[in-house]
Amino acid sequence: MAFQLSPLPYAADALAPAISAETLSFHHGKHHQTYVDKMNAAIEGTAHADASLEAIIAASRGTNQGLFNNSAQTWNHAFYWHSMAPSSTAPSADLAAKIDEAFGSLDALKQQLKDRGAGHFASGWVWLAEKGGKLSIEETHDADTLADSGFNPLLVLDVWEHAYYLDHQNKRPSYLDAVVEGKLNLAFASENLARGTVWTYA
Ligand code: MN
Repeated sequence: MAFQLSPLPYAADALAPAISAETLSFHHGKHHQTYVDKMNAAIEGTAHADASLEAIIAASRGTNQGLFNNSAQTWNHAFYWHSMAPSSTAPSADLAAKIDEAFGSLDALKQQLKDRGAGHFASGWVWLAEKGGKLSIEETHDADTLADSGFNPLLVLDVWEHAYYLDHQNKRPSYLDAVVEGKLNLAFASENLARGTVWTYA
């Protein structure tokens, strides 16, 4: 069964000016849609046709790079849309305690997310993740994902240039500052922490 493009959980202009409606229209309507379409074309008529997205990612890792890239990017982008909100949301008490334990404070976590995102070489993703009850910031390159990694991903930031170029040109730190300080969906991260299992594509 073909996968549908995961809908944006807010209006296309809801993240402006950090991320404009124009950027979201290309990033969701063109980039994300293309990953979904290429994945659907690759699984049609194969053993993957009725599998979950998470199973396709795990099965194609290291064995079918094209399918892995498109399925991982389909998952990563859906997870990224939910990682942001029109205004930043608050962490649960449990998440807040784990943030303090791992980073010292919420402000320190935000600074580390910005620093790691700015320092990430070329395209990729910067994650807040949990494993064994401990939080950490993780980076993945290109399409790589934490969906099948043994981590429980809590939220992610897209640091591919297409995520920010129309609004911030080459200034990735400007994009990261606007998103981390104003659009971070820590309520979503709290839900993922409380569930204790990896979010599934919707
Ligand atoms: Mn992207």
